[in-house]
Amino acid sequence: MAPSAKSSATKKPRKPRAAKTPKIAVVASGPSDNTNAALLERRQRAVPRGVASAASVFVDHAENAELWDVEGNRYIDFAGGIAVLNTGHRHPSVIAAAKAQEDRYTHTSFQVVPYEPYVALAEKLNALAPGDHDKKTLLVTTGAEAVENAVKIARAATGRPGVIAFTGGYHGRTLLTLGMTGKVTPYKKDVGPFPSDIFRAPFPSVRDGITVQDALTGLQNLFLTDAQPERVAAIIIEPVLGEGGYTPVPFEMMQALREICDTHGILLIADEIQTGFGRTGTWFAMDHSGVVPDLITVAKSMAGGYPIAGVIGRADVMDAMEPGGLGGTYGGNPVACAAALAAIDAIESEGLLARSHEMGDMFRARFAEIGARVAPYRMWDIRGLGAMLAVEFVTDFDSATPDGGLVKSICAHALKRGLILLACGMHGNALRIMVPLTASDEVLNEGLAIFEAALADAIAAHAV
Ligand code: PMP
Repeated sequence: MAPSAKSSATKKPRKPRAAKTPKIAVVASGPSDNTNAALLERRQRAVPRGVASAASVFVDHAENAELWDVEGNRYIDFAGGIAVLNTGHRHPSVIAAAKAQEDRYTHTSFQVVPYEPYVALAEKLNALAPGDHDKKTLLVTTGAEAVENAVKIARAATGRPGVIAFTGGYHGRTLLTLGMTGKVTPYKKDVGPFPSDIFRAPFPSVRDGITVQDALTGLQNLFLTDAQPERVAAIIIEPVLGEGGYTPVPFEMMQALREICDTHGILLIADEIQTGFGRTGTWFAMDHSGVVPDLITVAKSMAGGYPIAGVIGRADVMDAMEPGGLGGTYGGNPVACAAALAAIDAIESEGLLARSHEMGDMFRARFAEIGARVAPYRMWDIRGLGAMLAVEFVTDFDSATPDGGLVKSICAHALKRGLILLACGMHGNALRIMVPLTASDEVLNEGLAIFEAALADAIAAHAV
């Protein structure tokens, strides 16, 4: 029906919305704008600065341990997408498995219509994880989500609220996991308060003179001062600190933690999100100490570049939550499950666990040699397990003052020369190696030569 003249006449005409002139002209995307500088400009306008990127170049394509930016420059990738690419960029069988899955279905939500790849991956992870007991696996999408769920499960299984984490530990950026993450800047700065009943115990540190015994005394003191042990559900620890500096937990410390957990009925959670799937030369870093955790969180290199994470654990513990209490719309996406099964298969069939040890030995030797030649008394420590290695830089050996500035400069010079490097550590003064385990010796040597040159550049730039 046409509106009557009256009604339209009495209606107040809507004020036309003033056309907003954008303060900054929007850069049109197109082939001519596809330069690193143009993309960086667009990114700065469209993406919050809180999302930082180590490199100022934009990727065009990548293969194994190499990538090319939008201007055609080639880089060797020692960062592996933050320890996600133990099987390299676009491993052929991972890509083939994902494509084959995409041709059948990409999503139903496991909570609506379940699918076999989720079950197959859970079976595989249950078989690989340390311990002879029955295990079950929950699949989710991100590492932080896995940690959150591990805490939920531990609380439901024990009926206790408390969680103990360690200084320098990293468990994610969601609010519960931030509460566990032991580093203020940049992660926790300005975003508290954090959930309660999270306690922090000291992590052993040569730098800070904290021995294993000191750390364990600190934990016992925590039980006396703040965390009633019968109210603690879980102790969570990374077997090798990741973001915190690639420091392995001494095996005797891990064994002591297991005993303490058993004494008080506390569950031991190993956060293997960065350490898992061959990075340290074993499927799980816990395999080195022989200590069997109750729950393990996994993600990153499990699926060769696809977003999937999980919690593997004792079957009785994993079953503590009521049906419907676990999950999420996308949890255990079928394409990511297929990719994960293929990535795990590649780690097995290509002998990548042994390769990790071989690469670790090679990197240790080369770092020691390069350090002595190019930066005497600046490379304070070379540490890690297998190919999960870091080199820590100081201003001088006497004071051992962390030199985060030097590491920043090494990364910048390395990028200019064609190598992607990433820092870690409480003081940002360590460089970590997360290069694909599938990288050839030729590419590794090329990367190490660039590292050496970048180190020399940075030392020269820092010289007074
Ligand atoms: N735990 C550890 C040990 C990690 O290294 C990370 C990621 N760096 C996380 C948890 C969080 O994983 P995500 O970034 O996928 O949430």
